[in-house]
Amino acid sequence: MTSNGAGSRIRAKTPLVEIDGDEMTRIIWKMVREQLVLPFVDIQLEYYDLGLPNRDQTDDRVTVEAAEAIRKHGVGVKCATITPDEGRITEYSLKKAWPSPNGTLRALLDGTVFRKPIVVKNVPPMVRSWVKPITIGRHAYGDMYRSAEMRIRQPGKAEVVFTPDDGSEPQRVLIHTFTLPGIVRGVHNLDASIRSFARACITFALTEKCDLWFSGKDTIAKVYHGAFREIFRQETEARQADLDAAGVHYSYLLIDDAVARAVRSPGGFLWACMNYDGDVMSDMVASGFGSLGLMTSVLVSPDGKFEYEAAHGTVTKHYRQHQKGEPTSTNSTATIFAWSGALGKRGELDGVPELVEFARKLEQSVIETIESGTMTKDLASIAAPAPPRHASTEEFITAIAERLRSKVETGAPAR
Ligand code: NAP
Ligand code: MG
Repeated sequence: MTSNGAGSRIRAKTPLVEIDGDEMTRIIWKMVREQLVLPFVDIQLEYYDLGLPNRDQTDDRVTVEAAEAIRKHGVGVKCATITPDEGRITEYSLKKAWPSPNGTLRALLDGTVFRKPIVVKNVPPMVRSWVKPITIGRHAYGDMYRSAEMRIRQPGKAEVVFTPDDGSEPQRVLIHTFTLPGIVRGVHNLDASIRSFARACITFALTEKCDLWFSGKDTIAKVYHGAFREIFRQETEARQADLDAAGVHYSYLLIDDAVARAVRSPGGFLWACMNYDGDVMSDMVASGFGSLGLMTSVLVSPDGKFEYEAAHGTVTKHYRQHQKGEPTSTNSTATIFAWSGALGKRGELDGVPELVEFARKLEQSVIETIESGTMTKDLASIAAPAPPRHASTEEFITAIAERLRSKVETGAPAR
């Protein structure tokens, strides 16, 4: 096959699980696959259409099949998908409001989501000291997100009561003796979930060769946060030799200290966050680094399965313009990095260095295109210096394809 005019395409050994999606990102998806991937790489794509019409048609079985395929092959790349609400049920005449595909994939792969920004020179971060990406790993189980709450309106005693199944004596802890109206909340977590989270974080830090932080408030929540800290200690200790070999340093930090340090740091670390902290910090880091179009996301399971995607949604507003035949300027950077992440990982796992090299060249082509002043509207509005005009969705991808082709043809090694 000589479709790129530079000799044969790079041949991959194992199929890649390709998960298609909805709206504007579905349009971008096809352009990226046809212009930036298939002309250069000979890879078997095992295709799952998670576009909302097909999820409805298959009663959402296709989502489960896609998760099973990732479990089998090890690596997947996913387009953004609609999580249906009432409006979508009408718009797509759905049988029901199918659950969030990402929630289903996360549950079936027992995975942790890592969000990592793409750093380009002419889109300066809001925080001056940040020169390298800060990745947020969010524990996506329990705490406030699966809690029981109660409004207290009269004097009385609130307790935590645990009643063993075996009929033995219940355990009780007093929360508060109320004399005035107030509120209470009960939260929980599971050792197994915390351990999976710790393992996924260690796997990610080893892959990226970046330092690992875990933060909590065990000075106050001695039992609850203390259990998280202890499990992280056990898991990092068990992998100490690997961490040392990769030059990865683990540290436990109090959450307030971690926040202060993160803002003054140059970046370049993975910050493992408890559920609520991760919810808040991932949005802080995303906006601090510039644009949603520059934020990638990877789901890592504790046994080393990887699913790559853009952190943003299907960009509905731009799709509405596209449907009316109006020009769009949607940033495909995070979608392209999902593909490069997946191809690079496939190459790494299969021992195909050419594929790893290609993935780096693809990423460099994107970064150089933006740094040379060709960028979509979202970046043009925050870039320094501002470009004279912004590129359309198609122009941006075409410019990347040209740069990539010349990189592949000259055969220069990736930087
Ligand atoms: P969104 O698709 O992330 O878009 C929100 C806004 O952010 C856009 O209107 C746009 O702002 C800007 N934006 C996001 N990505 C961009 C990109 N690549 N290039 C340029 N601008 C970008 O979020 P949403 O509109 O709230 O959600 C739309 C659909 O996506 C929903 O159905 C939701 O269920 C789904 N969703 C899916 C995922 C996923 O699959 N991982 C994640 C989140 C949401 P401007 O309009 O100002 O240009
Ligand atoms: Mg949030």
